[in-house]
Amino acid sequence: MSEDSLLDDALVRLDEAAAHLSIDPDVIEKLKFARETTKVRLMIRMDDGSRKSFLAWRCRYDDTRGPTKGGIRFHPDATADEVETLAFWMTFKCAVMNLPYGGGKGAVQVDPRQLSKAEIERLSRAYIQAFARILGPDRDIPAPDVYTNSMIMGWMADEYAQIVGQAEPAVITGKPISLGGSLGRGDATARGGYYLVRHLSADLGLGENLRVAVQGFGNAGQHIARLLAADGHKIVAVSDSEGGVYSEAGLHVDMLVNAKANGHSVVSTVGQGGHEALKGEALVGVECDLLVPSALENMIHEKNAGTIKARLILELANGPVTPEADAILARKNVIVLPDILANAGGVTVSYFEWVQNKQGFYWTERDIHDRLREIMEREGRAIWNIAKDKGVSVRTAAYVHALDRLAEAIEAHGTQSFFTS
Ligand code: GLU
Repeated sequence: MSEDSLLDDALVRLDEAAAHLSIDPDVIEKLKFARETTKVRLMIRMDDGSRKSFLAWRCRYDDTRGPTKGGIRFHPDATADEVETLAFWMTFKCAVMNLPYGGGKGAVQVDPRQLSKAEIERLSRAYIQAFARILGPDRDIPAPDVYTNSMIMGWMADEYAQIVGQAEPAVITGKPISLGGSLGRGDATARGGYYLVRHLSADLGLGENLRVAVQGFGNAGQHIARLLAADGHKIVAVSDSEGGVYSEAGLHVDMLVNAKANGHSVVSTVGQGGHEALKGEALVGVECDLLVPSALENMIHEKNAGTIKARLILELANGPVTPEADAILARKNVIVLPDILANAGGVTVSYFEWVQNKQGFYWTERDIHDRLREIMEREGRAIWNIAKDKGVSVRTAAYVHALDRLAEAIEAHGTQSFFTS
């Protein structure tokens, strides 16, 4: 892992892509800094009557292509640098999928596992009170991210409605269905990645019965395990923040999902159904065909990238592979389907939710799945072709694809070349 900030690491990918396009320097200059990042301190009443404060941020990185869009994360290690980096990735992710959005992100520095449900509700409402003036259905539209979910989005939508004096469902996505949420949003991140792998399967040389390792067993990890297992692939290893489990014969996905639903780690299934314990970072190096990082940033780095046996990595997490690890993986001919494409199913169905809220007409789950598959396949194919034509990694191709669209929009707003040519 480099000493640089996370954003500096992320900008390396922008420079790599820029080298393959002839782009006005104004464009790169614009994309290297966040448009605005607001930091606040949220004060809430705890259940015991005391008051406690938490740092919180909202970053609107770039809004050239539309209102800023991106989740809100609750995590003890959240920082301004991380929020800006995640918002930078959202900018590129929305451009990859051709969604009419810019990129944003928010976070609260908190360990939600230490808070009661009522405290989390007060924190969620406090977040909206602090940021309501920069949010809006045509300005900045949050959604769930790490350790936030539809229940929290429901509280936030409710708080926003109280502030503006009317229901405004399109201000936030990932809501409960009863408050204007979309069918198919729950598993959208995993489903998008699943459609992508299925579509490129022949190009990637993948066979029928893949052995899969899933790092992180939250929303994305659980759904990808379920979707792939239903197709007959074998989930051989899974981990969460407390450790991992392994079974050469294939893990029982239902058992793992049940353990999580009851508030337990996947480790609690060790000893049942042939599940064996897996230590620390061992998951990354297990014998498998497909590795699916679904947890946090920088989980695959210089020190463990060399141990990877998988031929393919599907990045359902944001930023799981460092630039140093990317170089090691390229030398090992491991193909990486990058985050800004692989996990874009989530924000794509968020976009569908926003469209449905604005038009007041709701689609069937089948509509959602079909439209998601169509976009994943179209953009995935375009990026795959760029990678082949230019002889670059799929990640660089995804950045080239997004940067091309961003540059066109930035140019249309007016850059130096308008005045000098
Ligand atoms: N948090 C998700 C992401 O990183 C979803 C964002 C959204 O739906 O706006 O892509």
